[in-house]
Amino acid sequence: MANFTDGNTNVCGLIGNPVRHTLSPLIHNSLSELTGINMVYVPFEVPEGGVGDAIKGALALGIRGLNVTIPYKSDVIPYLEDIDPLAKGIGAVNTLVRTESGGFKGYNTDMTGLYRSMLDEGVELEGKTVVILGAGGVARPSAFLCGSKGARRIYILNRTFERARDVADEVNRALFEMGREDSLTEDGVNAEGEPSDIPQIVIPMRLEEYRDLYTEEDKFIALQCTSVGLFPDVNSAVIEDAEFYQHVSVGIDMVYRPLDTKFMKLAGEAGAKVVSGLKMLLYQAIDAYELWFNGATSEGYEAQISISREQADEIYKSLVMEVTGARNIILEGFMGSGKTTVSEILADKLELELLDTDAAIVEAEGRSINDIFATEGEESFRDMETALLETASSEHFREMVISLGGGLPLREENRELLGRLGKVVYLRTKPETVYERVKFDDSRPLLKTEDPLAKIRKMQEERGNIYELAADYIIDTDELTPSQIADKIIEGLGIVF
Ligand code: NAP
Repeated sequence: MANFTDGNTNVCGLIGNPVRHTLSPLIHNSLSELTGINMVYVPFEVPEGGVGDAIKGALALGIRGLNVTIPYKSDVIPYLEDIDPLAKGIGAVNTLVRTESGGFKGYNTDMTGLYRSMLDEGVELEGKTVVILGAGGVARPSAFLCGSKGARRIYILNRTFERARDVADEVNRALFEMGREDSLTEDGVNAEGEPSDIPQIVIPMRLEEYRDLYTEEDKFIALQCTSVGLFPDVNSAVIEDAEFYQHVSVGIDMVYRPLDTKFMKLAGEAGAKVVSGLKMLLYQAIDAYELWFNGATSEGYEAQISISREQADEIYKSLVMEVTGARNIILEGFMGSGKTTVSEILADKLELELLDTDAAIVEAEGRSINDIFATEGEESFRDMETALLETASSEHFREMVISLGGGLPLREENRELLGRLGKVVYLRTKPETVYERVKFDDSRPLLKTEDPLAKIRKMQEERGNIYELAADYIIDTDELTPSQIADKIIEGLGIVF
């Protein structure tokens, strides 16, 4: 994490309310690390009615750039010196950039970010039909974006028809004002059936009438802009009818908690390309960052900042791990459960770093675990394990596969630390399977006994419940290959890059 500050540190931040669960610091701090720019990003919770003071204060303090989130995206506009035409058309601003004369200019990178995420996924809007589900704060600018990027026709479907109608009217007017003059309705009537000079590119519909779309359009791009499916309501989609998804060519869900929403599952099962709203979140931040740091610099930064696809992918990976709660993926289990092999395969598949706690202690101490046990005793070794976890947790370790020593989860203190570090996966294995896997392995002193199988059973009885207690996810590994176990972990934790 970039947390070094000095006299030249640039300050950027976020104003909104609430801001406590924001992912923006993660993205911006990663960006400053990747680009080598000396910057910190701070969320500011602004109380109701305080947005004007916040802007004044930010200007006085020399804050370089701000993001703006709910509920201030429109309220902030009167305090700006200038506004970009796209943001003006949308009527909402989420990024403020310092002007040369010392004010802020407002931009809407939510929408440029959505567009960039579409381009990133090879989704083209020109001449296409778009179906927007929902008519709230995100649906309206999305409709405007699609219209301004040449979508042929945009349907807005909403539970409350009146809101869909208002959004359609507003966006049609804004598109007309920005110069999009091609009309779709030959008879020139608006949604209320009244004559209109304004082209009706955006057409409102009642949500329950979605089947009417099929007679008009065979395939369309669907933008899921309702809050249905958002955690904890993870088993719902705003339209659950599988037939609808047969008509979807691309399904984009604005909701990104969970990462793989029911809408995305249904669209994916029907063969559509699916895109997560997390990409939009990523690119709105990247667009803001590029606006803040392009051009100016007295400290010798590159004059032009352009975040590459590879850099964006790297940050996206961190976001996915964060959203799934799997900051690190931690494997626990009995000897012979496949921890070591599976952790290697998993790290390889996900391109993550690997940390084996036993190996890390051996390396740090310069002696074997047997030596440590023999000279200082088991307690001492357990203390080393706890110290290692404390360091990992205080240094905010991220994006690692961590393979745990078999006895590590036995300490309650360690289990608490593991909970903070990431998701714990228990590789559960029957004693007979363990015995088959380790019976010829001489390096296991614990099994140097007359009846190793009985010893394994006894140890599993003692430890099994504790492993279960520490686990977020349990996999029975007896019938699976290490590669299958790794795939199950990826699927079970919902990790999709
Ligand atoms: P909003 O203004 O509150 O609008 C919510 C929409 O959902 C309305 O159209 C509402 O319909 C509809 N809706 C809610 N419950 C429904 C239900 N049970 N059945 C049918 N429709 C229902 O919200 P918003 O600001 O547009 O945000 C929508 C979602 O986008 C949020 O959940 C948020 O997670 C996500 N989002 C993502 C990003 C990103 O960067 N990816 C950015 C912002 C927001 P009615 O009009 O009938 O009430």
